[in-house]
Amino acid sequence: MSEFNTSDFMNPMMTQTWSNGRHLVRCVKVIAETHDVTTFTFGMNQPVLFFFKPGQFVTLELEIDGERLMRSYTISSSPSIPYSFSITVKKVPGGTVSNWLHENMKSGDQVAIHGPVGQFNSMDFPADKVLLLSGGVGITPVMSMARWWFDTDSEVDMVFAHSARTPKDIIYARELEYMSTRVENFRLHLISAHTEIGQAWGGYRGHLNLPMLNLIAPDFQQREVFCCGPEAYMAAVKAMLQEAGFDMDHYHEESFGATPVKDVKRAEKHADEAEVEALEPKDLVEVCFTDAGKSTSVAIGVNLNEAAAEAGVNIAKACGVGICGACRVRVISGEYDMQQNGGITDEEIAQGYVLSCCTQVQSNMEIDY
Ligand SMILES: Cc1cc2nc3c(=O)[nH]c(=O)nc-3n(C[C@H](O)[C@H](O)[C@H](O)COP(=O)(O)OP(=O)(O)OC[C@H]3O[C@@H](n4cnc5c(N)ncnc54)[C@H](O)[C@@H]3O)c2cc1C
Repeated sequence: MSEFNTSDFMNPMMTQTWSNGRHLVRCVKVIAETHDVTTFTFGMNQPVLFFFKPGQFVTLELEIDGERLMRSYTISSSPSIPYSFSITVKKVPGGTVSNWLHENMKSGDQVAIHGPVGQFNSMDFPADKVLLLSGGVGITPVMSMARWWFDTDSEVDMVFAHSARTPKDIIYARELEYMSTRVENFRLHLISAHTEIGQAWGGYRGHLNLPMLNLIAPDFQQREVFCCGPEAYMAAVKAMLQEAGFDMDHYHEESFGATPVKDVKRAEKHADEAEVEALEPKDLVEVCFTDAGKSTSVAIGVNLNEAAAEAGVNIAKACGVGICGACRVRVISGEYDMQQNGGITDEEIAQGYVLSCCTQVQSNMEIDY
């Protein structure tokens, strides 16, 4: 940000505030967090206050090899440091965008982003005592929350339990340790699934389980829980809490989503489980994807993107909440209910386009895809 006139940053008249929409931002810093995780910090040429709710995300719009790609990333920084914001990206083996960012994004590069949005955030669920549970790169939203409470000298009582594959995979390790030494209302617990022979490790070993949780946060039943991590991790946490009789109204989670292929497989399995067959025919509708020549029977109210996956058709999906437009398809016929968040224009809607991630099927439908 060295090119900016720093006095502008002190002048409220010169400072704008960020709001949900499409923005052009510039990468101002690249930080290697671990061997396969990097933080990218973005700012704007003029002073802008990047306000958002800790836990929310942005969607990057990139052009890679001539193809427009959208991927969502949680804002890992805190709005307490408002002149920039950061995302922290883990390299996914074979993943297009995460690897591209690691190999190409450098300080000075400009990129379009959409957002900030997201219901998984600490401001919409205020609490005096929280339990932050994360696995792997799922640490990003809960780190943003912890940074916010820490930076604002909040009295929120935080217990932070982070699980990683090995000690060298712990993201923000030094910052977490630092935070835990500065204030009493931040208690850190690190869990490593594996350690190497001879490697010193003072944290927990294995996977988070109920006896471990009882040691980490004996009062967990009184805490608001925010959880993010791989799908298997979140499923295990949820099952553990349910088994312990936890009131799940106080449980909040964020999924980074399954891979497209897994989505299809999962949906096929879902269909196999005969849930669909158990429904009365009057509750079932037929969704046909004309280009792919595939169709499926789904219950009324099913999400169009899931219906596509059930039919074995993979419609690209990025944000999952109707802001990025990545999953746009054209409806040839049929009734639907779309609850989008600005990712599609009125003209596109008038032409019959919908965002499949936030469209519910209401009748037999034909989709041009
Ligand atoms: C709300 C939200 C917040 C998120 N926050 C973060 C975050 O903070 N940090 C972070 O690192 N990630 C985050 N993600 C995940 C991120 O959006 C991307 O999904 C992730 O970076 C992988 O994208 P990619 O382009 O690298 O991989 P993709 O190219 O999408 O591929 C993903 C995987 O699928 C496989 N695959 C893809 N297509 C095929 C195919 N046709 N056949 C076989 N295999 C295939 C790839 O090999 C790879 O393993 C978030 C996601 C959401 C929805």
